[in-house]
Amino acid sequence: MKKHNFSAGPCILPQEVLKKASEAVINFNGLDLSLIEISHRSKDFIAVMDKAQELALEHLGLQNKGFKALFLQGGASSQFLNVAYNLLNKKAAYLNTGTWSSKAIKEAKLFGEVVEVASSKDANFNYIPKGYSIPSDIDYFHCTSNNTIFGTQLKEFPEVSAPLVCDMSSDIFSRVLDFSKFDIIYAGAQKNMGPAGTTLVVVKEAILGKIERAIPSMLDYRVHAEKDSMFNTPPVFAVYVSMLTLQWLKDLGGVSEIEKRNNAKAALIYNEIDRNPLFKGFAAKEDRSTMNATFNLVDEEAHKATFDALAKEAGLSGINGHRSVGGYRASMYNALPIESVQALVDVMQALEKQA
Ligand code: PMP
Repeated sequence: MKKHNFSAGPCILPQEVLKKASEAVINFNGLDLSLIEISHRSKDFIAVMDKAQELALEHLGLQNKGFKALFLQGGASSQFLNVAYNLLNKKAAYLNTGTWSSKAIKEAKLFGEVVEVASSKDANFNYIPKGYSIPSDIDYFHCTSNNTIFGTQLKEFPEVSAPLVCDMSSDIFSRVLDFSKFDIIYAGAQKNMGPAGTTLVVVKEAILGKIERAIPSMLDYRVHAEKDSMFNTPPVFAVYVSMLTLQWLKDLGGVSEIEKRNNAKAALIYNEIDRNPLFKGFAAKEDRSTMNATFNLVDEEAHKATFDALAKEAGLSGINGHRSVGGYRASMYNALPIESVQALVDVMQALEKQA
């Protein structure tokens, strides 16, 4: 039996996707060649890239609405600077909800004035700030939809007159939103989409080209948009596996169906965290993430060794919390079955019985 994989990323992918991907590494499309030893300009790979872009836009409801889906490299971390490079003339506003927002802010400061409209740093980012105001004279507003480390998630997005930019690395394709409100959405593939190695950038083309500085080609969204993500050699394997995962999502009913499953998984774990007297949740209840549930033992000294041993015995993998939060984090991305969350709940209940 495989482990119950709660890894925060790279993370669990659908078993059937892994199987198809492994087959394509040996013999792709019956070509008697591997996917990773053919030209990215071959018609077989171009079809993969086209399909991946089409599926990404389709899942977000952004087809034929002036958006481009780009498959780039350098991780979401490169987008921290790319966004600013392409959009920041004078001033941008950022909402600081954790480690990844803070890193995005740090990069943007290299390009212009950055207004931090609100921050939850005062409480180790265990909540999402609300009721802040956003200046009107900005080039864009940036937020992080899901805070992978702290287990918080934006349930609502502010109305802004400037372009709305969002790092959706850890909850893209997990829930239905009005994605047409956003001007740039970016996400590293390695949570809900595929393996590490590619980053999806969905950009509204009309917002580009308004910058005063010259942009190096590799960092220029317009160059990648014009070349359909083929300006340079794309990460062919990562794009292929992303395409397979996006197709898997479509076959099971799309984002609205996976959202129901994700809500059921989240309800299961959070009910147990709230019910079980040995545990306490980390994130503020109204801001809890459906992707990453963060929680601690009330009495670590008394129960940590037993809980860890029970978890290991049950085949639970990747539940240790990030060092900046401690405790535990159950990452429940799209491909994680509810049976795995049940296995975790069973272990929490077994600990309670033993204690
Ligand atoms: N943003 C978020 C929300 C993340 O969770 C991560 C990585 N876990 C990043 C950005 C950085 O992504 P990458 O490692 O692909 O640069």
